[in-house]
Amino acid sequence: MTKAPVGPESQRLHERAATVIPGGVNSNIRLAAPSVVFDRASGATLWDVDGRDYVDYVLGQGPQFLGHANPAVTDAVATACRDGMLFGATHRLEIEAAERVLAALKWPERIRFGATGTEAVQAALRLARAVTGRRKFVRFNGHYHGWLDNVLIGPDQPGPRPASDGQVADYLGDSYLLEWNDADALAALLAEHGDQICAVIMEPVMVNTGGIEPRPGYLQRVRELCDQHRVILIFDEVITGFRLALGGAVEAYGVVPDLAIYGKAIGGGWPVSAVAGRADLMEWFGTGRVNHSGTFNGSVMAVAAVIATMRELADDPPYQRVTAYGNDLMKGLAAVAERYGVPLHLHGPPSAFFASLGPADPVDNLAGLQRLDLDGYAALTTRLVGHGLWVMRRGIWFVSAAHGEAELATTLQRFEAALAEGGS
Ligand code: PLP
Repeated sequence: MTKAPVGPESQRLHERAATVIPGGVNSNIRLAAPSVVFDRASGATLWDVDGRDYVDYVLGQGPQFLGHANPAVTDAVATACRDGMLFGATHRLEIEAAERVLAALKWPERIRFGATGTEAVQAALRLARAVTGRRKFVRFNGHYHGWLDNVLIGPDQPGPRPASDGQVADYLGDSYLLEWNDADALAALLAEHGDQICAVIMEPVMVNTGGIEPRPGYLQRVRELCDQHRVILIFDEVITGFRLALGGAVEAYGVVPDLAIYGKAIGGGWPVSAVAGRADLMEWFGTGRVNHSGTFNGSVMAVAAVIATMRELADDPPYQRVTAYGNDLMKGLAAVAERYGVPLHLHGPPSAFFASLGPADPVDNLAGLQRLDLDGYAALTTRLVGHGLWVMRRGIWFVSAAHGEAELATTLQRFEAALAEGGS
């Protein structure tokens, strides 16, 4: 019998939520999730208001890389804020947080903290415009850079097209939209319009749409092209930062951008983001020529969370464990699926892999993704949630440092139970 993915108490509270919070959620991306209402979380486990538990592969859309309620992070935040939260000037912990993040990343020379990835992207783009005196930027189909008017795009081609009613579509005219993983397309565009282009911005792994990794040599070629045309290369490492490696995609692929955006995992779950990069660029903020502001930037809680997170990640790096877990999980899911004749397609970095239904052929662009049965997989996730696996309909599975043997066994058992049920 199919278990309803949402228990009676979740249902009741979600209905109540929807009378005061539009859609019952505070971020539109959550409209796609089953309307489970949660009570608490610890490590890699979530509990909903009906007392059901879930192995969590959403991790709050990525930030909980150290697991939920990591004591080092929660204690650091609680302790630090007892002595004040905001000072309207520099607090000593902001300096330590900046030093620790720069030491972890190795390549950038300066960093500014913010509260969300969305605004850090805007700061980097403004900086790129200011420094180059050029207005347009290049971005890629399927990459997400936040919900503001100049970067939010719909999937339809040819783009860029707005993805929301009320969005000022004209602002999208500031960007050229290209297919990612196609260096020749970028070369051709820069050859024609390079002198109007301030920046190329990308997710260095296209995690948001299909968990697609860069083709060998692609990031290197993008770097060379940006140098050739004096265009600023911005890596949006909001997902990949501190997840693929301590040094994020820069460390994993060995290509260094001029600026990068961090968020999610940097604060162990606390809302904090950052722009980091070369001193000669970042100091345009320091002189005041380029405005980057925010009442809550560098709050005591945020920087305490960052310091604790950096300490945890540097003192006991979880990357090998997380990679091994992701690989074991993908192998285990594939084996179960094979037993049940389900054509499960898996690819991507083990700490943020992508699942769908369809042939096992490699996928390295959006055209490849379109050959998969994304809707069929989304329907399957409803059953997975009903069996206690909290996963996203759009196929990304985030792994944390808190996932271990017990979670692996439970996940495979629950996955098997969901497949044994059949149907969709
Ligand atoms: N950039 C990337 C790659 C993201 O995945 C996200 C959020 O998912 C953002 C930017 C926006 O970050 P935030 O939701 O913190 O504003």
